[in-house]
Amino acid sequence: MRKPIIAGNWKMYKTAGEGVILVQELNALTNAVNDVEIVVCPPFTALPAIAAAVAGTNIGLGAQNMHWEEKGAFTGEIAPGMLKDIGCTHVIIGHSERRQYFAETDQTVNNKLKAALKAGLKPIMCVGETLIDREANATKRVVGAQVKGGLDGLSGQQVAGLVIAYEPIWAIGTGRTASAEDANEVCAFIRRTVAEMFDQPSAESLRIQYGGSVKPDNVAELMAKPDIDGALVGGASLEAESFSKLVKFK
Ligand code: PEP
Repeated sequence: MRKPIIAGNWKMYKTAGEGVILVQELNALTNAVNDVEIVVCPPFTALPAIAAAVAGTNIGLGAQNMHWEEKGAFTGEIAPGMLKDIGCTHVIIGHSERRQYFAETDQTVNNKLKAALKAGLKPIMCVGETLIDREANATKRVVGAQVKGGLDGLSGQQVAGLVIAYEPIWAIGTGRTASAEDANEVCAFIRRTVAEMFDQPSAESLRIQYGGSVKPDNVAELMAKPDIDGALVGGASLEAESFSKLVKFK
């Protein structure tokens, strides 16, 4: 059985103070939940304060990005070991906004994935197609290439512990959700691709999230699908009440 994982991507929202209030409220609403992994991913500047606020709770702490080098002259960047040092457990890698606005490629995603694993962080690797890809029936070709490029050179054992977030770009922040059937079809395709690249047991252990306008009123239907093991959530993670409803999807 794969443990569901619900992760909140706060993007460029919340100061440290606002974030602390949010996780305190969230913890009050979810501290009895132990069969779902809960992760919040605040902006870098809020990470130390949120690390202190989630200490001793069942809420994990993720960053939204990192560099792949351990140190060096990379102005403005953050190294994996720095995230680990301040208490991060997870890191989002290759979010579509990073690919779209900051020129991240499957190669940089692959570099970051390897560096995150080396530092002992749990990566959440994002993949997903544009609306143009979907309308051209290219979803599987595009997502398959992202999975193959991102996971290149990893071992089956490493892949077994990974989280992949399938996020159709046209569904992010738009209020448009992929139907649960369509989302599950792509998640199942990702699992098959991983099985072909590595092995069946690793593919069965891998957790695959859906992301894209997940809200309290559609989470249960998505989570009921056999290949959807969680959600990566933007907008609905910015408020404790809505995020806690996603965590308590059952
Ligand atoms: C995201 O940022 O990864 C995301 C899925 O956003 P939203 O839930 O707002 O669509």
